[in-house]
Amino acid sequence: MTHQPVSDSSVPDWRRIDRDALWHPFTQMAEYEREDPPPPIIVSAEGNWLIAQDGTRYLDVNCGYWALALGCRPESVERAVKAQIDRFSHSTLLGISHEPALRLAERLTKLAGAPLNHVFFNDSGSEAVEAALKMAYQYQVHSGHPERCEFLGLGEAYHGDTLGAVAVGGVELFHTTFKPLLFKVQRVPPPHCYRCPWNLKPESCALECAQAVEQAIAERAPTLAALIIEPFVLGPGGIIPQPKNYLERVVRAARKQGVTVIFDEVAVGMCRLGSVFAFEQLDDPKRERVPDIVCLAKGLTAGLLPLSAVLVNAEIYRAFLGTYADRRTFYHGHTFTGSALGCAAALAALDILADEEFLRQLRENTIPALWRMLEPLRAHAHVGNIRGRGLMAALEIVKTRGAPDEPYPGEQRLGHRVVLAARKRGVNMRAIGDLILAVPPLTITQSEIDLFGRVLRESLDEATGISPF
Ligand SMILES: *Cc1c(COP(=O)(O)O)cnc(C)c1O
Repeated sequence: MTHQPVSDSSVPDWRRIDRDALWHPFTQMAEYEREDPPPPIIVSAEGNWLIAQDGTRYLDVNCGYWALALGCRPESVERAVKAQIDRFSHSTLLGISHEPALRLAERLTKLAGAPLNHVFFNDSGSEAVEAALKMAYQYQVHSGHPERCEFLGLGEAYHGDTLGAVAVGGVELFHTTFKPLLFKVQRVPPPHCYRCPWNLKPESCALECAQAVEQAIAERAPTLAALIIEPFVLGPGGIIPQPKNYLERVVRAARKQGVTVIFDEVAVGMCRLGSVFAFEQLDDPKRERVPDIVCLAKGLTAGLLPLSAVLVNAEIYRAFLGTYADRRTFYHGHTFTGSALGCAAALAALDILADEEFLRQLRENTIPALWRMLEPLRAHAHVGNIRGRGLMAALEIVKTRGAPDEPYPGEQRLGHRVVLAARKRGVNMRAIGDLILAVPPLTITQSEIDLFGRVLRESLDEATGISPF
């Protein structure tokens, strides 16, 4: 494919159309319109690189917002989608079945292992969370406990943007406006070692963050349907990794009280942390802490098509069985539930993602290489914290380091200035406030990591006003 120069009059004025017709998500459009240089308009892609209308190439270290697990153009996944189009693109799972959904259900349940033996499909991570919440509550109804109608979630949790997902979310900036519309959720502060809500130090604390969840469960269990948690790392709420043993403790506490455990693995699943499912990394040799419900999306199709999956354990699934007259049916689903094209993409993605050699490479080479690149940046005068796990990392920039570190005033948009500086240097990044995200495709190469590291340092220096000389 050749790239047309911008001046060619046969090329539509995409900039004007972008301003006049398109409303971008999570974007203040009045500021977006004024951005200088203007944001790139992507027209094609190659490997881990996006190619803009003017021919500029960008290494995409945000990989389509964490979805393009295998880079922008995974050949075998593209081939599988094209082959599926030649058979059929869409049918429904309401009352009849289809082959790609059956193959994927079998593959996912085999990979997850007992007792996670059924899959419910949706189209996005938010929808997976909605389905999980409704299932968890309806399960309590069928178990004779309709009074168990509350959920327990963490502060800074992010579970999506539909109203149920917003209700269990805990990101103030995104969620406060909608408070009057939301159902009640019990919330415990997150285990945030860099900005500990209990003002404790990880070296000397007694995991007061886990104690708080244990206590909330002990007190509220009679009215709790489920605990919903992003395992190991709270993602969009700030890439907040959980201290060792935290997750094991909170799952154990929920188990003890009959509180259903929902793992939102939308971000951390599909190998982001080095295993197909994040829950495989629990210290759980007897498989006593396998979550009851697991939500997957983002990387599930390697990011080529929207598809999400909710894995459910045998006990919950059985509680929904009966006759229509018994009123145990799960009255939930979407037109495109179990999209045939999405399932075909996911199967091809899993051929790579679940391959032992691919996982070994990821764990032994790619993940350590990313952290080796990040490590020296800890000494940067404006980097307050570097945190994460697997191929999910972030750098928090601060005005001055000290005890405690002092953030930049929000209106200076330092994080975004780093993003703009990186864009000039051919790297597409994303920031949440002053948190610079490093969530690259799992296929990122050593030389691409080196480039990312060099651009990251130069961009930090430029945005924070440090002269490189
Ligand atoms: C992205 C994300 C979601 C929402 O998924 P969508 O596909 O954007 O609806 C939910 N939970 C987590 C942890 C996520 O990262």
